[in-house]
Amino acid sequence: MLSPGGTRAPEAGPARKVVVTGGTRGIGREVVDRFAAAGDSVVSLSRSGAPVEGALSLACDVGEHAAVEEAMAQAVGELGGLDVLVVNAGIVRDNLMARMTAEEFTTVVQANLMGAFYPVRAGIRSLLRSTRGRVVFCSSTAALLGGVGQGNYAASKSGLIGLARTLARELARGKTTVNVIMPGLIDTDMGRDFPEKVRQEFLASVPLRRAGTVAEVASLITYLASDEARYITGAVIPVDGGVSMGV
Ligand code: NDP
Repeated sequence: MLSPGGTRAPEAGPARKVVVTGGTRGIGREVVDRFAAAGDSVVSLSRSGAPVEGALSLACDVGEHAAVEEAMAQAVGELGGLDVLVVNAGIVRDNLMARMTAEEFTTVVQANLMGAFYPVRAGIRSLLRSTRGRVVFCSSTAALLGGVGQGNYAASKSGLIGLARTLARELARGKTTVNVIMPGLIDTDMGRDFPEKVRQEFLASVPLRRAGTVAEVASLITYLASDEARYITGAVIPVDGGVSMGV
């Protein structure tokens, strides 16, 4: 069985069994690092399966059903159960709707929305057996605001909200909480990939006038996974410098 990462504080209880999708880079990597440093046992699923210190890193495209079933079975087997599932992996393929191909649309929906459904479906029975079950979905402010060229991405990210709220109701009896975080522009490979003009225009609309950091997003995710957050479920929480305020 997979052994926990860093040293665990005695008051923190036994190590949690954690799966993070997209744990090799960006936000997901910071989340993996934090769980591992807290002494939890962590598995990351990503296409590359690149090594992640302190975690078991499995190669798996979250948009491929059979691959996810296989990887989740291995993850849950190695962990000896599942307490926390962080659905974080995501991609963009921006294009104006007038030009967007069906392939660009379905590729993004497959990775971001089906890539949420498959791990949840594969892990749900194990989560139901956990006494401290947590699911956190990584959506985006694009889910509420839309975004020029982001019809595919916004559709996939708003789909996560309906999925999460349904799951929150279905899992509430077992005390598993299900929440959504909505980052704005965050400084990662994905966040840096936008054309500079688009980035600057977006940042001008952010009340705090800067991009967020992976640490700022990961701390919200780990808080929602913590015991302190046990009365929060079905919530959609922005971490966006105020850009979606009032929406
Ligand atoms: P990055 O591009 O930096 O990292 C994405 C991670 O997901 C990598 O580990 C990547 O690994 C993995 N991944 C991507 N596609 C797949 C796939 N099909 N199957 C398995 N793993 C996959 O992204 P961020 O850290 O910036 O984003 C994380 C989440 O936050 C995403 O859902 C994104 O939509 C969301 N978000 C990001 C924002 C930003 O500005 N950065 C803003 C709002 C939301 P590999 O390449 O090896 O597969």
